[in-house]
Amino acid sequence: MMKKLSVIVPCYNEEAVLSAFYEEIIKVASDCSNYDFEFLFVNDGSKDATQNIVESFAKKDERVKFISFSRNFGKEAGMLAGLEHCTGDFACFIDADLQHSPDLIPEMLKAVDEEGYDVAACRRVDRKGEQKFKSMLSAAFYKVVNKISETYIDDGAQDYRVMNRNVIESILSMKENIRFTKGIFSWVGFNVKWFPHENRERAAGDTKWSVTKLFKYAMDGIIGYTSSPLRIPLYLGILLIILSGFYIIGALLFSDYIDSVTLSAVLFAVMFIGGLILVSIGIAGEYLARIYTEVKDRPKYLIAKTNCDK
Ligand code: UDP
Ligand code: MG
Repeated sequence: MMKKLSVIVPCYNEEAVLSAFYEEIIKVASDCSNYDFEFLFVNDGSKDATQNIVESFAKKDERVKFISFSRNFGKEAGMLAGLEHCTGDFACFIDADLQHSPDLIPEMLKAVDEEGYDVAACRRVDRKGEQKFKSMLSAAFYKVVNKISETYIDDGAQDYRVMNRNVIESILSMKENIRFTKGIFSWVGFNVKWFPHENRERAAGDTKWSVTKLFKYAMDGIIGYTSSPLRIPLYLGILLIILSGFYIIGALLFSDYIDSVTLSAVLFAVMFIGGLILVSIGIAGEYLARIYTEVKDRPKYLIAKTNCDK
């Protein structure tokens, strides 16, 4: 029996690149002739012809499996669905837009099958082809998250990776609804072999990440992996109480009149403290909202159509 690699491809409105991607991936598969392959396309509620194109592959190639969501659930849900339905001894995540060069797969497969690694993952060497503003934001995000979180989240680590069954099952054992995959990868650990990988230009189509989507993602990353922001209001509160003690002592000893400077200082203090209180409630609210989402425990995705039998 040959070992099998499941290639999991999350797709959202990728009609422009899918055929080129398929051509490249079957070439890689024929180069790795001592492995069985399964190509699992997860159509994340695309509004274009993505689903038709995937079904046309499936018609002529029985290695092609698809899962089509009832709407857009996000890439994280797509990757989860892929892991839940894949049947391979190994699984590989790869983007449909050809920014992840498929020709790295044979080497990564060798690392997990022959060299004793559990995961073979790509690490970005540069941020070519990305907007300056986005690169800056994400650099700032990783600085913050790694300062305050217990799980180290690697700045350059990509979703593009091959892993063995043990790692697949470990990732699946994490049942959280809000899935920050990068955090999950690093939380489960295991023996990882890193491959430097240069981001290629997108073959066609547009990136699906807007700045607001990225911001939301970053918040999930911070809040999912550390609760230390919840402590900020506590420390700030203690500091303010001490400061106000000094203030009242100073005022009693040294001032015998109220002038306009004092008045504006008071106004400033009221606004400043009001702001701190609102921010504090906001931080607690962010956690509360996520607890609410987790408690509702809704399905992480809904399948409208699939040819997977698992
Ligand atoms: N994707 C998805 N659902 C989404 C957004 C993106 O399945 O809601 C897929 C997309 O089709 C692609 C991969 O995730 O295969 C990476 O997306 P994209 O190229 O837009 O991200 P970027 O490479 O710009 O970070
Ligand atoms: Mg991309």
